[in-house]
Amino acid sequence: MAAERYKAIARKWRPETFSEVIGQEHITRTLTNAIASGRIHHAFLFIGSRGIGKTTTARILAKALNCLNAENDMPTVMPCGACDNCVSIATGNNIDVIEIDGASNNRVEHVREIRENIGMVPSSSRYKVYIIDEVHQLSTSAFNALLKTLEEPPAHAVFVLATTEAHKIPATIISRCQRYDFRRVAITDLVALLKKITEDENVSATEEALYAIARIAEGGVRDSESILDELITYCEDEITFKDVFDVLGLVDWQAFHDLCDGILTGNVARQLEIIEDVVAAGKDLSQFAEDLLRYFRNLLVCRTADSSEVLLRLPEGEIKAMTERADRFPKIKLVRLVEQFADVVNAFDSQIAQRTALEALLIRISKVDVEVSLDTVMEKLLLLGAGGIAADAAESPAKPPNPR
Ligand SMILES: [Zn+2]
Repeated sequence: MAAERYKAIARKWRPETFSEVIGQEHITRTLTNAIASGRIHHAFLFIGSRGIGKTTTARILAKALNCLNAENDMPTVMPCGACDNCVSIATGNNIDVIEIDGASNNRVEHVREIRENIGMVPSSSRYKVYIIDEVHQLSTSAFNALLKTLEEPPAHAVFVLATTEAHKIPATIISRCQRYDFRRVAITDLVALLKKITEDENVSATEEALYAIARIAEGGVRDSESILDELITYCEDEITFKDVFDVLGLVDWQAFHDLCDGILTGNVARQLEIIEDVVAAGKDLSQFAEDLLRYFRNLLVCRTADSSEVLLRLPEGEIKAMTERADRFPKIKLVRLVEQFADVVNAFDSQIAQRTALEALLIRISKVDVEVSLDTVMEKLLLLGAGGIAADAAESPAKPPNPR
């Protein structure tokens, strides 16, 4: 059921034209300009994280090159979406648009097959388009064979090489391609898309829930669509902020508040208990550490910015709970916490390293007596430097929550 619905949503919302591609205007504009002016390069390199539109854009490009309803039988920036070529390209069934998964076709023989096939003129199109996904997976000899093809391509051949890891592509290949760097989609753009989809699907969702989905998808269109799909299946009426965490099996936010309280009071046992709960519930510890980093970054925003509601897009109750806690930390302590959590997240490579690093950090930062006095001194010094000692002089780490 979920899979069917997801497919339906993904198919329904897959961009069909350049103007429908979200968050990649810098790329679609360049491509449409190239097509309009008839300067079509024979090799494109699409770089960017997964699920942000590389293959979709490659297919739109193929349609633009091969649409049968184009004026003067030339490539068009507005493929019709209805002719045989447009329809078969959109579904990945066009004989002249060859999609290759570089991960499973990474040997030199696979590239040789392309070379044997490439000389033949396209059967019903202007161009033969080769879309090689995950191209960084090709073997060295396969890359060498591909390079020869890129050096002397037939006029009717266009290559789109797509990759998530540009640093693994040989420089000789890169130099033969026009390079396009896809960006993660801005949260606000993703939320706008999710809003459109929920309205169209007659589903209601709170704004906070949509922001949470967009944040968790980290700028990925496909991921955010698939999360939304799961939620639509799971939620009977309105999709709420809490539903997002429940459905995705993420740690409940209360755990972050509890852990923060443990840090504030120096209650190490409580913090280790929370870690134990997270592990016992089978949650991913590296994800938990990332969420923790995000949480403390939110605290820092609450502590330093007046408009944290706008910046964080979290439910009012959450902002209030975080602000209360944030106000009990000296600013510089929060800054250091965020840096330390970032270090831990970066250092994660094995389960045990993760747990130890995280626990060691928690214990270290909980030595409130030692560290905080040092922090206070540092903060006062910084304030002196900024000429702001008078306003904040009364601040101490042990002050009660600031009622707001
Ligand atoms: Zn068409």
